[in-house]
Amino acid sequence: MYDIAVIGSGPAGLSAAVQARARNRSVLVVGGDDRDNPLYKTPRIDNYLGFPQVSGKELLERFRAHADGMGVARKEGRVLNIMPMGDTFYLSIGSEMEQARAIILATGVVWANKYPGEAEYLGRGVSYCATCDGMLYRGKEVVVVGKAADAPQEANYLQELGCKVTYVSDKAPDGLRPDIPFVKAPKVEITGEGKVEALRAGSTTIPCEGVFILRPSVAPADLLPGLVLDNGYIQVDRNMATSVPGVFAAGDCAGLPLQVSKAVGEGLVAGLRAAEYVDHISHSI
Ligand SMILES: Cc1cc2nc3c(=O)[nH]c(=O)nc-3n(C[C@H](O)[C@H](O)[C@H](O)COP(=O)(O)OP(=O)(O)OC[C@H]3O[C@@H](n4cnc5c(N)ncnc54)[C@H](O)[C@@H]3O)c2cc1C
Repeated sequence: MYDIAVIGSGPAGLSAAVQARARNRSVLVVGGDDRDNPLYKTPRIDNYLGFPQVSGKELLERFRAHADGMGVARKEGRVLNIMPMGDTFYLSIGSEMEQARAIILATGVVWANKYPGEAEYLGRGVSYCATCDGMLYRGKEVVVVGKAADAPQEANYLQELGCKVTYVSDKAPDGLRPDIPFVKAPKVEITGEGKVEALRAGSTTIPCEGVFILRPSVAPADLLPGLVLDNGYIQVDRNMATSVPGVFAAGDCAGLPLQVSKAVGEGLVAGLRAAEYVDHISHSI
């Protein structure tokens, strides 16, 4: 059990983790593939104080090295769900589970809207996790809708399990097995009668029993039902506290302006307030 779990390993999450470690709290940061981070893809940042003309990749690496040096535990993966139970939060990370007393959401902005049929068939053929659900589809036709950088590897894993995989994405995948057909399409639609039966990708219809939608991020309201949003961003007060006790948010997911300095500053506040929250509940147990 960690004192604090941070979801997202961008500037906000790493800043929060460093501050919470400075208060001697145990901290786990869960983040996806670096290649999915907007900062990683930004060749030049001109407005981060003290680091003119730094590349986003270098800045991120410095943030990460700082967090590592402070003893922050890090795990690569996607948090799919957070369940509060008493004074503990349970996080499902792929097929694994972690526990923490407080949560800091630092997931950045989730731009993608759900695809038609996605919510309707979730758990009835639609899955967000190849490791968790792949075995259910051995010998069956499945489609991987690849949005995250590690999606080709997940598709390869499903094929090796014995699934018959088709890969759909808006851009050619890097590292996909040559025996997996690739269909280029920006938008998809999931269809069926009570369960998934096909995926429409542009003008192509692919019959299938499973659809794995692999995005880098999960929308906050899907991560933690009950979270109050404001114009699509997580509603927070000046302590970066959300509507759910013990859950804080920082950075792009908590609102405009979408900038590194603001993410780092909010991360600091969230880290300190989450550490205080953990102190408070530890004394009241
Ligand atoms: C092209 C471009 C140029 C930019 N230029 C500048 C600039 O010059 N100056 C500036 O200040 N800002 C700039 N920005 C904005 C800046 O990148 C963001 O404001 C900053 O990265 C926000 O930090 P964050 O920590 O809130 O979120 P992010 O950096 O987005 O980090 C969030 C991380 O959380 C991960 N994540 C999300 N959901 C989950 C989950 N469920 N489980 C695990 N991990 C998850 C995401 O994959 C991501 O890696 C630019 C952005 C873009 C796209």
